[in-house]
Amino acid sequence: MTIVAQGHAIAKWFGKGANRTQVLHDVDFHIRAGECLAIIGESGSGKSTLTRILLGLERADSGTVQFMGMPVEGRKSAGYRALRQSSGLVLQHPFASLDPTWTVERSVAEPLMIRKIVAGGSLRGVERIKDTATASVHKALQSVGLDPRIFATRYPDQLSGGQAQRVAIARAIVDEPQLIVADEPMSAIDVAARIQIIDAFAAMRQSQPDAALVVVSHDLGVVQHLADRIMVMQNGRVVEEGASDQVLMSPQCEYTKTLIAAAS
Ligand code: ADP
Ligand code: MG
Repeated sequence: MTIVAQGHAIAKWFGKGANRTQVLHDVDFHIRAGECLAIIGESGSGKSTLTRILLGLERADSGTVQFMGMPVEGRKSAGYRALRQSSGLVLQHPFASLDPTWTVERSVAEPLMIRKIVAGGSLRGVERIKDTATASVHKALQSVGLDPRIFATRYPDQLSGGQAQRVAIARAIVDEPQLIVADEPMSAIDVAARIQIIDAFAAMRQSQPDAALVVVSHDLGVVQHLADRIMVMQNGRVVEEGASDQVLMSPQCEYTKTLIAAAS
């Protein structure tokens, strides 16, 4: 399968002077179309920084990133533009990514409107865009298990955390991006609602089988349900990487063994 995104020898430093510390060391990664890659590791191990670099939201200090075979360099590079057009991000706190004054329908539709208008829709075309957008929005809501007849007109303060996170997922997948990154999407969600988030991602993988999904999670249950492959990070380095079953059932690295023992 096509490699959607890859990075080679990524290094990243933060801070200045005596506080300058290296947070990523020589990281290589890749993700293929249709694959779900989980990134696990303790807090502070560099997972979020790596995903931000992968999405072009942050620059690496050295190393290279490619998206669909195109280098992601400055904001003018073809790789960066393709990445912005065809990636979705789900963060830990769902309400932070939803405008409290917008209905669910508007929040989910917004990425479609922006991208289509930027792609050259005339103002007269906007009405037509709205109609096709509504169909896509309803499809995305359905695929995350939210009935559009009930939820389309709700506002964020009328949603539970689990419902809001599913709206955030619908928003990230509505224009069928090639890459979806979810950074700890369950950690702010009630345990009882987590299964709905897992189901939402699983349904998304069914309806968009070529999308590449990167999930950062502490929750090995989530990882086990969703991931095809696991990458383990410790102190800014990839210490283990392999097929999910292999990493979970017979971890090679002491650090991975500790993580798994701590979770069970
Ligand atoms: P994780 O997501 O695995 O918890 P992060 O990528 O958020 O790890 O952080 C890795 C390290 O980089 C941590 O030590 C964190 O404090 C540091 N860090 C992250 N972002 C910044 C920043 N913008 N400025 C300074 N240090 C940062
Ligand atoms: Mg993080």
